[in-house]
Amino acid sequence: MRVELFGAPVDRLTMEQAEERVAELVRGGRSCRVITLNPEFLYRAVSAEPLLLELVRRADLVTADGEGIVWAGRVAGTPFPERVTGIDLMLRLVRRAAAEGWRVYLLGSAPGVAGEAAANLQRKYPGLQVAGTHHGYFKPDEEELVVRQVKQAAPQLLFVALGAPRQELWIDRHVDRIGPVVAMGVGGSFDVVAGRVARAPRWMQRMKIEWLGRLIREPSRWRRMLVLPKFAWLVLKTYGFGKRRQRFG
Ligand code: UDP
Repeated sequence: MRVELFGAPVDRLTMEQAEERVAELVRGGRSCRVITLNPEFLYRAVSAEPLLLELVRRADLVTADGEGIVWAGRVAGTPFPERVTGIDLMLRLVRRAAAEGWRVYLLGSAPGVAGEAAANLQRKYPGLQVAGTHHGYFKPDEEELVVRQVKQAAPQLLFVALGAPRQELWIDRHVDRIGPVVAMGVGGSFDVVAGRVARAPRWMQRMKIEWLGRLIREPSRWRRMLVLPKFAWLVLKTYGFGKRRQRFG
């Protein structure tokens, strides 16, 4: 079931259903784009960059990444069952990959990080087949080589950690050439899995204030968070104040 928020499609799925959907995409054997949509991305797409909105519209699966989107869904009268964040979905998919024998490729983050993340994942999910890893600090003229390496490794799942929206743009531009693969942007997830950056404590995750934990650890993010009140205002202006749109899906 899909709904639209400001013209961006978002799938109304639980984490488990999102995992199933990806499994279907893998079985389908074509190149697919998965976007975990957060408020920063959506606000940027809607307010300033229609190209990003186009990109979301092309995605095969778009999940509600974070409380901001879940809240917007509620205000719009199209509630989401739960949030499906990039890192959580990635971990579910890696577990599934180990069980199904899908090969995974980790592309992005500082040199060494993707390799460490892959090793940790293999320890946690024995039998996981890592098709390859590559850091995310390649120059524009090295891009072609990276695409060829990923293609040659022939993974079923490709996780790309270049930061948003660069990772989504990268996937959109190259995935069709890479071949049958489900590709998804995962932001700073490799840093967390490699143990370089700690995730907010569980109680913060449960209280849905993981963003606050992240802000405390990485104060430089405050600037990016200024967009959240703007997003909230846009949601209220568009869907709130008794203006609920019709239900979709
Ligand atoms: N990154 C990268 N290449 C770059 C810029 C960033 O591989 O040119 C990596 C960076 O090392 C980090 C991830 O991309 O692992 C971005 O993490 P961030 O938490 O900023 O993700 P966002 O929340 O912006 O999606």
